[in-house]
Amino acid sequence: MAVLYRSTRSDRDPVSASQAILQGLSEDGGLFVPDHMPKLDVPLKDLAGMNYREVAFEVMKLFLSDFSDEELKDCIRKAYDEKFDSELIAPIRQPEKGGAYYLELFHGATIAFKDMALSILPHLMRTAAAKNHLDREIVILTATSGDTGKAALAGFAGVPGTKIIVFYPKNGVSSIQERQMVTQTGDNTCVAGIMGNFDDAQSGVKAIFTDPAVKELLAQSGYQFSSANSINIGRLVPQIVYYVYAYTRLLAEGSIQESEEINFVVPTGNFGNILAGYYAKQIGLPVKKLICASNANKVLYDFFGTGVYDRNREFILTSSPSMDILISSNLERLIYHIAGDDPAANAAYMRDLAQGGRYAITDRMTEELADFAGGFATEEETAAEIARLYKAAGYVIDPHTAVASSVYESYRKSAGDAAAAVIVSTASPFKFESSVMKALGQEHDMDDLALADKLSELSGVPVPAAVSSLKGAPVRHTRVCEKNEMLNVVKDFLGIE
Ligand SMILES: *Cc1c(COP(=O)(O)O)cnc(C)c1O
Repeated sequence: MAVLYRSTRSDRDPVSASQAILQGLSEDGGLFVPDHMPKLDVPLKDLAGMNYREVAFEVMKLFLSDFSDEELKDCIRKAYDEKFDSELIAPIRQPEKGGAYYLELFHGATIAFKDMALSILPHLMRTAAAKNHLDREIVILTATSGDTGKAALAGFAGVPGTKIIVFYPKNGVSSIQERQMVTQTGDNTCVAGIMGNFDDAQSGVKAIFTDPAVKELLAQSGYQFSSANSINIGRLVPQIVYYVYAYTRLLAEGSIQESEEINFVVPTGNFGNILAGYYAKQIGLPVKKLICASNANKVLYDFFGTGVYDRNREFILTSSPSMDILISSNLERLIYHIAGDDPAANAAYMRDLAQGGRYAITDRMTEELADFAGGFATEEETAAEIARLYKAAGYVIDPHTAVASSVYESYRKSAGDAAAAVIVSTASPFKFESSVMKALGQEHDMDDLALADKLSELSGVPVPAAVSSLKGAPVRHTRVCEKNEMLNVVKDFLGIE
């Protein structure tokens, strides 16, 4: 049965997968969710014999019902190619004997896990545009906490029929992250820093996106917005793949038995990655717990512990900036599901969140959260975990991965849960080398590229091209705006009034 996509906020008619990808967000401000959960129809032991691209096809075809097999295979082939510096695409390692597995999702063009979805999204979007006879140019509008921006720019740069505009918090990203974005080439790209944090950027984008007057203005000029943020199901669906792939790799190497349940530990910000893990479980992957790891911005940890989501708190800048988020957009999809796929109930919670910054779910809904466990790591714990793992195994992890790794160490002790566990490793340590070197007690008062060489020496891992190519790359984007000026940036770039 074909999967259609409904809004989390109203009973309006569902749309096809390709329409959901083109629109990004429902017109009522809700997110698109599958109208039913498909089931994996190939046995896990057969999937264990497949490569990443083949597993991607088996998983994604379940959700992208109006894409033909040929179209989907073509998108997958174009996405998961030599842009990745590992043939496995997402290699899995076990640095400590008997310890956790690390699923490395940072072998793509921008060395963070956003590449897993953003290397395929432009292809899905172009296919969806052709399928729906779209004659307008697509304008991708994106807020980034650091990694989405570059991955989306890299994915969409030079793609005909698209333009891309990225807003990032001017003082809220790492030095390498900022350099990666402001040196982006391609006439169809625009990057601006905003004087605010990620939540401001995300709210600003959402406001522009859902403003009917702006939509009309764009249409008159032959444009239509779409989103490359993790609210787009074209981001979410490709992320389900690597949960299945990780499981089948462990099965293939004999580390687990067929149908044995395993845990995944996910460093979480906007709740997109871990929601994909939840969907992987729903389609039949044997997952025990999804462990949601937060940094000091522990709004999700508090939510899992109390059933109260409360963003009224101080926003803390940490060494894991891609998780510095107080409004986790994709949590809305989980709320909708645990409310019994009820758009009215979900819409009421989201109204409470918009108005008072807070909502409390019912006891019955809290019971539905049993698939999850929450944990958080302080800045000190995060740095200590980077040092511990390096000392124990010579393996260097980035601060986001270290948050998850630290949370897992505490979880394993306190819950006494000995199931095999996969730490979802979301960034290369080279992307956050300054924090990493500090955690390792290394002198780090040098420029980015010299520091990269030092980290390479220490870890035995070559400097990734994503970092070495920054050397001498000219800055092409210098615009910085106030958070209420974002619409002007959009209008200027598109040349509309
Ligand atoms: C985006 C990002 C996260 C958070 O992922 P969500 O899907 O937003 O929860 C974690 N780590 C890194 C390195 C990221 O880029």
